[in-house]
Amino acid sequence: MPSHSGRQVPALDDPAFRLEVQSFLNGLPDLLVDASDPLDATRRYRSALFEAGLAALDYPVEYGGRGLDRRYVEAFRQEASGRMPREIGHVYGIGVDMCLPTIRDHGDAALKERFLRSGLSGEEVWCQLYSEPGAGSDLAGLTTRAVRDGDEWVVTGQKVWTSGAQHSDLGILLARTDWEAPKHRGISMLVLPMRQPGVEVRPLRQMTGVAQFNEVFMDGARIPANWVVGNPGDGWRMAVALLAHERSSIGAGGGRQPIPTDRLIELARHHARTSDPLVRQELADLHIGTRIIRWLNQRDDIHPSITKLWRSRQGRAAAAVAARLAFPGGPAWVGASAGDSEPDGFEDPDGSHWAYGVLDACAHSLGGGTDEIQSNTLGERVLGLPREPAVDRDIPFNQVPGMNG
Ligand SMILES: Cc1cc2nc3c(=O)[nH]c(=O)nc-3n(C[C@H](O)[C@H](O)[C@H](O)COP(=O)(O)OP(=O)(O)OC[C@H]3O[C@@H](n4cnc5c(N)ncnc54)[C@H](O)[C@@H]3O)c2cc1C
Repeated sequence: MPSHSGRQVPALDDPAFRLEVQSFLNGLPDLLVDASDPLDATRRYRSALFEAGLAALDYPVEYGGRGLDRRYVEAFRQEASGRMPREIGHVYGIGVDMCLPTIRDHGDAALKERFLRSGLSGEEVWCQLYSEPGAGSDLAGLTTRAVRDGDEWVVTGQKVWTSGAQHSDLGILLARTDWEAPKHRGISMLVLPMRQPGVEVRPLRQMTGVAQFNEVFMDGARIPANWVVGNPGDGWRMAVALLAHERSSIGAGGGRQPIPTDRLIELARHHARTSDPLVRQELADLHIGTRIIRWLNQRDDIHPSITKLWRSRQGRAAAAVAARLAFPGGPAWVGASAGDSEPDGFEDPDGSHWAYGVLDACAHSLGGGTDEIQSNTLGERVLGLPREPAVDRDIPFNQVPGMNG
């Protein structure tokens, strides 16, 4: 059985590093004072972080990193907790937290040279081209195809739920390159240049009213032949490696946040509900959940699905409490205006963010793999339970009914 015992990450005893981080954080208000919009603010932040040598603490020095260990990453997170200006968004999260670590760990020297520095410094934005209309939880059933044509791959197919594709320069793409190999063995991981005629991005409006994710149509899109992460046909192993980064990042607080408990306490005060024993109990449970997630993240070698599941449950529980406290204002909310940015934060007890947060909470248990899939993963990989039965795992993919290539 694999070891996921969860050792505590040792605390960092390096006051000079902590001062360095604090000094960088102190400069953020001035850096962002005249940012034109959240995208501009996020770009400025990323570029300044890189210039300060704080963007890639655990990356090799030759790619703009500092070559430090995980204690420094954790110390940065501790220092930055609660101090990030609200206008800084998540547009770089998929690149920095998921695609770039996968390239760092599995890409060849040419890929690292081409993509790491530009991604870490914020010159290029990435998206994740995994899910398809017929392949979400069953990701290995994907049917987007990439065919070699001289010095290039030619890609045809459709992706869906692609967060941030509208801002992206590059996409980490899973495509089928061998239809005769079994399902998991004919997939390759490629890097797709998003800004080309063969790629069309169409926004999808969510029930929150904003359009943060998209459909992506590829029709004869072109990729240089050597932009393959790992080897052709080894894409499933790469995909799993990237998903582990995704789940750790979500578990550790990347991307969408559960509604903070202190904001819910304020909301309860505003509605004169702090003496209600049920509300008090729910708020105490949420406080405990926040602490547990924080402690889980201080552990090393813990399976990322554990923290991902905790965050997802916390996100939904916090939204349910918010809905009960904010009623009846929530259902009357008319939705955010067009665009892809969230409404303002949870400071105003009558603000529109409450309804946004309640509706958006469904996404906690979907993005990055559903709760059921995390539980399956834990059952199989951590508890050593038998694999889920599958009739299509070991036969050539083009012999699976309906997949004749
Ligand atoms: C906010 C958000 C952002 C996203 N961003 C991206 C992105 O950037 N890039 C990307 O590629 N994808 C993205 N996704 C897609 C996400 O990864 C998929 O929605 C998710 O993997 C589920 O796939 P599906 O939607 O096709 O649901 P399905 O796979 O059709 O699942 C439907 C239901 O069946 C259950 N189910 C399915 N199979 C099993 C099983 N074997 N055992 C038990 N239960 C099962 C699921 O848990 C779920 O409840 C995003 C999704 C959301 C909500």
